Amino acid sequence: MSTSNVKKSAPAKKAPAKKAPAKKSAPAKKLAPAKKAPAKKLAPAKKAPAKKLAPINAAQKAAAAKKATADKVKLAAAQKAAADKAKQAAAKARAAEAKQKAADKAKQIADKARDAAAKKKAAEKAALERKKAAEAKKRAAEKAKADARRAREAAAKKRAADKAAEIKRKAAEKAEAEKRKLREIEAKKKEQERLRLERQAEIERLERQEREAQAKREADERRRQEALDKKRNAKPYENEPGFLAEMRELLIAKRAELTGQISDFDDQADEMLVDRERLEYDEEDGSSLGSDIQRAQIKEMANRWRLEVDEIDIALARVDEGSYGRCDECYERIIKDRLRYQVPVFTCTDCRATV
Ligand SMILES: [Zn+2]
Repeated sequence: MSTSNVKKSAPAKKAPAKKAPAKKSAPAKKLAPAKKAPAKKLAPAKKAPAKKLAPINAAQKAAAAKKATADKVKLAAAQKAAADKAKQAAAKARAAEAKQKAADKAKQIADKARDAAAKKKAAEKAALERKKAAEAKKRAAEKAKADARRAREAAAKKRAADKAAEIKRKAAEKAEAEKRKLREIEAKKKEQERLRLERQAEIERLERQEREAQAKREADERRRQEALDKKRNAKPYENEPGFLAEMRELLIAKRAELTGQISDFDDQADEMLVDRERLEYDEEDGSSLGSDIQRAQIKEMANRWRLEVDEIDIALARVDEGSYGRCDECYERIIKDRLRYQVPVFTCTDCRATV
């Protein structure tokens, strides 16, 4: 665009400068090749007066010829000028073109520079973005690292807390176990104490029972003893004085009989002793032996009767106190018939065998 402007403006300004020495028609011809609209418009305007002058006189013709030559020179000059101008224009155009080229080149350079700048900017932007990305990455990595560290720390903290909790739990368990053990020991002690008390109570109960049994035994024994004493001191025929009197008579009679027999036997024995002394003196043969045996027998019988007399005395004493008729073994009453037919007697029929 800038180039076309430069071409249009160049002829418009230069045309009036060269027309100044030339006639008015010259510019018309010179103007004819002019391409531009304003040039064409000007041409008819100037030719119009030139055509009107043509049919005038010779002077006018010479002038005209002169003028034509001048015009030719002028034309040539004009052509030269035009050529120069064209040359100039061409040079100008070349210059313009060169300028344009330079401009284009500059533009290209500028474009390139812009592109480079843009590229650089883009590269910088990209670098910046990369840097940012790297930083972001770094930050992310750091964050991740920090997160990981925090996670590790949290995990370590948790582990420590878990461990502490575990220790605490174990301690609590141990304490609980000890408590339980103590409770068990206590319970065991209590149970042992309870059993001890139970045993003691049982022992006391048995002792009490034993004491009671003992007391009962003693009471029984006492009662038995009392009964025995009562029996021992029993007087079965105490309330039968007639029977006791009968007994006394029988005893006294028996005693008299026995004492009489004893007396007889004593006399016999004495006589036999005298006889024996005499016989010993007279004859010392075996006949004295037989009398010795006889005398011993007599003495033995007498002695037995003496014992019986003693028993009768006892029986008589008991008749006096009223206890006669009681068995010496079982303290039971001896039946009357036995008392009548055996004098004296101190045991019942049942006890007789055992004595
Ligand atoms: Zn008896």
